Amino acid sequence: MNKSFDADVIVIGAGLAGLRCAQVLTANNLSVLLIESNDYVGGRLRSFAVDGYIIDQGFQLINPSYPELIQSGVLKEFDLRTYDPGIEFRENDSRFTLSDPRAGALASLQGIRKSSLPFRDILRIGKVLAGSYLSPARQLMQREDTDTFHGLRAAGISENTIRTFFQPFLRGTFLDDELATSWNYARLILKSFAKASPGTHPEGIQALPQAFARDLPLSSVLLNTKVTRISENKVSSTNGDFSARAIVLATDGSSAAQLLPSTPPQWRSQTTWWWSAPKQTDSSALRIDLSDRLLCSALDISSRAPERSPKDCSLIATPMIGNQPTLELEQRARASVAHLYEINVEQVQLITTTIVEKALPALAPPFAPKFVNKNGTVFCAGDYLESPSIQGALHSGAKSAHAVRAALHSSHRSAMFDDPA
Ligand SMILES: Cc1cc2nc3c(=O)[nH]c(=O)nc-3n(C[C@H](O)[C@H](O)[C@H](O)COP(=O)(O)OP(=O)(O)OC[C@H]3O[C@@H](n4cnc5c(N)ncnc54)[C@H](O)[C@@H]3O)c2cc1C
Repeated sequence: MNKSFDADVIVIGAGLAGLRCAQVLTANNLSVLLIESNDYVGGRLRSFAVDGYIIDQGFQLINPSYPELIQSGVLKEFDLRTYDPGIEFRENDSRFTLSDPRAGALASLQGIRKSSLPFRDILRIGKVLAGSYLSPARQLMQREDTDTFHGLRAAGISENTIRTFFQPFLRGTFLDDELATSWNYARLILKSFAKASPGTHPEGIQALPQAFARDLPLSSVLLNTKVTRISENKVSSTNGDFSARAIVLATDGSSAAQLLPSTPPQWRSQTTWWWSAPKQTDSSALRIDLSDRLLCSALDISSRAPERSPKDCSLIATPMIGNQPTLELEQRARASVAHLYEINVEQVQLITTTIVEKALPALAPPFAPKFVNKNGTVFCAGDYLESPSIQGALHSGAKSAHAVRAALHSSHRSAMFDDPA
């Protein structure tokens, strides 16, 4: 490294994009200064304790089939507790299950046959799921794109089945009730669902960014430091100025738009109610209440991570779309939990409510991951450039790290041929 710089690369933001970027750069023997405004690493992945329960700052699951997560190697020593692969749909007294697609398309559809969906649509659901699972990701991304509603209609699925099955199935992942999200991206999500069951960690979702941070030299992470200005090789911050050969801006899309003027993303919000209930058994599949569509889903988090609740209690997470929980909505959510777990409303106690206004950047079609490099020395990373997910954030972080590495390598080579001053 040139002595006049503080590091080879300054990475701004220690969310998953910044952490993955720093991990790749460090593995390539480049020195990194990772600057984060919060007092913790992880950005939107955060966990905290309340009365013996470990709560996440929003309902999030880790899908071990995400390619960039596999590539990073962090899952090797990660205590991932995966949930049941199926999803249980409940409507009044009837219920049906979408079983593990890896058991085969036919076996997976057996459960849906118990629903009132027309048989013709059930076959088409099978075709969509199998097609997403079997097609290579690159192929799914290259198709002409539309929104998810029209993609499903083009696959021959009736509006009624879209409303009864796909909308409740996908709305929690996109935080989008209209299915306006890119259909090509939706098919990638269906593929990842079909490839592996999602899970959590006994210490909460924040264990994931902490696993990435453990790969970095301690001195390379500077917390409680907000970057206020960026220029070609320098950043100004609440802790002074720092310089580097290259800079990666890995903040969320709105903070990035303030530092490098551009249009901020549209955000989708999530509220999650966290409930205590008597210890449940056989409750490790996601449940969806079709009688009252307030909640996206309900999951007994402690069914696979009992460390996250006191011994005789279950920790149930119930996310909804939006950021304005009222007392009336809370009562509906409580009733929905009682219905889904067949317990009395009085047995369902609220632990806390988490509200994330800027949870996911909206992803309208066409799905076209972006790569941003300004002036040759400033690069951008973050889920808003790739896709609104753990995979999207990690992949954009890795992409920017490889681009920085290539740029620094070529500037080093050209410097070797410069005339001495
Ligand atoms: C409620 C919720 C539910 C979700 N559910 C899922 C899910 O189930 N599955 C899934 O795959 N994904 C899910 N996601 C999405 C996933 O968490 C995000 O896509 C991902 O964490 C984004 O990472 P990032 O690094 O791009 O951004 P961020 O996590 O936002 O990180 C950006 C970092 O930059 C820092 N920063 C900002 N400005 C500055 C500054 N000026 N100076 C220094 N630092 C700065 C911030 O403090 C932050 O730490 C969910 C997200 C939320 C919030």
